[in-house]
Amino acid sequence: MTKPLRPEELDRRTDSGKSLDLWLGRKVILHFGPTGTLVRHKTRKYAVRARVGCHRGCGRGQTVYAVSGLHAGAWCYVYSRAGKYLGNMRDDVYNCGHHRS
Ligand SMILES: [Zn+2]
Repeated sequence: MTKPLRPEELDRRTDSGKSLDLWLGRKVILHFGPTGTLVRHKTRKYAVRARVGCHRGCGRGQTVYAVSGLHAGAWCYVYSRAGKYLGNMRDDVYNCGHHRS
């Protein structure tokens, strides 16, 4: 089995401006914790599909699509499948709909 890519590896390649096509389908460890899969995204070119759990520990969670931000790399901006912006996981934590105020 192939080892998951480390966040730095994904950042480096993103910064280099090279295509990420050869890594589609690979497991990627995200800076903010979860391991996901590099996929194509509807509104962004690439995203890491990952499951995040509610910060309050209630057991609810959501599948999010993490993409790289204004400057290449980082992969901390999370979107829904449809392309709705959900947050910056570098600064925020995920709270489920029930625990969001
Ligand atoms: Zn919750």
